[in-house]
Amino acid sequence: MSVITIERKVLEKNDDLAARNRELFRRHGLFVINLVSSPGSGKTSILERTIEHLAGRVPVGVIEGDVQTDLDAQRIARLRVPVVQIVTNGGCHLDAKLVSDALERLSLDGLHLLIIENVGNLVCPAGYDLGEALKVVVASTTEGDDKPLKYPSMFLHASALIINKVDLLPYVNCHLAALKGNALRINPSLAVFETSCTTGQGIAVWADWLVKKVQAVPAPVVR
Ligand code: MG
Ligand code: ZN
Repeated sequence: MSVITIERKVLEKNDDLAARNRELFRRHGLFVINLVSSPGSGKTSILERTIEHLAGRVPVGVIEGDVQTDLDAQRIARLRVPVVQIVTNGGCHLDAKLVSDALERLSLDGLHLLIIENVGNLVCPAGYDLGEALKVVVASTTEGDDKPLKYPSMFLHASALIINKVDLLPYVNCHLAALKGNALRINPSLAVFETSCTTGQGIAVWADWLVKKVQAVPAPVVR
């Protein structure tokens, strides 16, 4: 009973801070996505391909969340976009406070898109609002087609699903129609994309959808 109460208080405090982040993003005319998945689904690779596709069109910044190391931030920095690494030191999700602290190390001026790569985990990131406009969940074909059934909350809270590593479909035990069907039964409004970061398949379709979202954001009130 007391555990439930503490958890609720933690989440309420998080929601307050997330609202503050969201207001900051609004004032900067910034579109923000929270990229979530289990470890190894290819979030950082999708980020790299997406940034390459948006180069010269959309100024993008990145916040990387990892349990240890800044290896992912190093990969993003090679693409010459502003990036800040959050190391959670064992923490299994990002929260609004961690993002707020990271924002002190990232200038939002001139950015139109901010991508927050969450810690690889399909459980608690579903419950922690960071102030993002929407969550995007990545599920790779190597994980099989039952992830939406096992982690429904994440798929319910997401606005888009990227099915990654579709080039491996002939070699893995994953049926694309089953994966899509399982996800859409939980959340019929999910926008679904199919990508391969190895072949580049589907990256343009996904990135162009993202550009439309960015373009729909009202102009900044500060800058
Ligand atoms: Mg990563
Ligand atoms: Zn967690």
